[in-house]
Amino acid sequence: MKTVWEKYTGKKLQPVMDFAKDYEAFLSGAKTEREQVRDSIALAKEKGFRPLEKVEKLKAGDKVYVDNRGKSLCLFVIGKRPLEEGLNILGAHVDSPRLDIKQVPLYEDGGSGLAYLDTHYYGGIKKYQWVTQPLALHGVVARKDGSVVDVVIGEDENDPVVGVSDILIHLAATQMKKTAAEAIDGEDLNILVGSIPLKTKDKEMKDLVKANILEILKKKYGMEEDDFLSAELEAVPAGKARDYGLDRSMVFAYGQDDKICAYTSLRAILDIEVPERTACCILVDKEEVGSQGNTGMQSRFFENAIAEMIAKTTDYNDLLVRRALRNSKMLSSDVSAAYEPNFPSVFEPKNSAYMGKGIVFNKYTGARGKSGCNDANAEYIAKLRKVMDDNKVAFQTAELGKVDAGGGGTIAYILANLDMDVIDAGIAVQNMHSCYEVSSKADIYEGYRAYKAFLKDMN
Ligand code: MN
Ligand code: MN
Repeated sequence: MKTVWEKYTGKKLQPVMDFAKDYEAFLSGAKTEREQVRDSIALAKEKGFRPLEKVEKLKAGDKVYVDNRGKSLCLFVIGKRPLEEGLNILGAHVDSPRLDIKQVPLYEDGGSGLAYLDTHYYGGIKKYQWVTQPLALHGVVARKDGSVVDVVIGEDENDPVVGVSDILIHLAATQMKKTAAEAIDGEDLNILVGSIPLKTKDKEMKDLVKANILEILKKKYGMEEDDFLSAELEAVPAGKARDYGLDRSMVFAYGQDDKICAYTSLRAILDIEVPERTACCILVDKEEVGSQGNTGMQSRFFENAIAEMIAKTTDYNDLLVRRALRNSKMLSSDVSAAYEPNFPSVFEPKNSAYMGKGIVFNKYTGARGKSGCNDANAEYIAKLRKVMDDNKVAFQTAELGKVDAGGGGTIAYILANLDMDVIDAGIAVQNMHSCYEVSSKADIYEGYRAYKAFLKDMN
């Protein structure tokens, strides 16, 4: 099988490896939607991006961003042509499946004297993959005085990690008879956080292990137990993104769905020259739970940003906003399922995505007869083929597995509902939604090149 690796030999290999190294570093430092937005803004500022609200009039070449509540982000490079002629948009999501800490999470198991944090999982996971893993806690605690404390425990080498236990094989006779879906119950994803009781002279005091954990949290973060009520804490696999394979050709990391497309899309918009059509990169939250809410793609925040931009370029008129949306073209930058030689039965080989064969275009996604899909128009795909070929970008087309094997969706249909042309275009990964997903460095680089070519040349 021919792969992209054949073109990246000799001197051409170094940029591929260097890009992946940058990606691994970025991913290791930004595992949640908030951290992704924070670090993306930092990179954008280095390249001259400014908050849209700080700019009075927009002109070609201006670089601006809109930060939506610290959880989603739109970046724009203003093009030479008027906004009403449409934008070239890349849209990726920065949330990933994980275990969210409940609002009232901390308890002590009386019989064992162990303290736990109760969780509610976020997104589609195989629950059995998340036990016996080193987990880190990331997030924020918002206090009543208006201050917000950032929390990261478990990433520094000297930090402790936490985790969810599984029953030993010796006593798993009943569990092993259950289906994989039932082997671990969602309500049982409880994170063990402590076992030392608080030292106190108060003989009446109960739950001393829990009390001791609260003392530690108070010392380190100044938080009280009630502050969990207004916190967003996420348990994610602890540790850094790593090279994978004896030849270091792949990346092994948590959260590559969809931070792999988020990073390549971000780098594409940071690295382009002044484009003809205004370039846009959306990094959005809540895709894994259906894109609802004010930080999800179904929120009006994106349309509002376009309206603000129109108002900063010409006399505001709602029709100009509608036209800008209608004339836009979009790549829904989201991951594809890489063909699995270990599980060939769920793939149809002709219409599968292969690691190392470049960016993947999914004309449609959906399930059970394309239900819920965005089905990209043939004419749009023809234009895309030309942009990719003109820029010598390797691409492949695929479906998400065999017909009726399952299915899935992305943010594609939401933007398409705004009347623009949209297609799913992303990087293939193995182990999607598990604690550690695998991608090809060649595809990461090719994805970045594809996104740049799209921003520059799509008409
Ligand atoms: Mn995704
Ligand atoms: Mn996903």
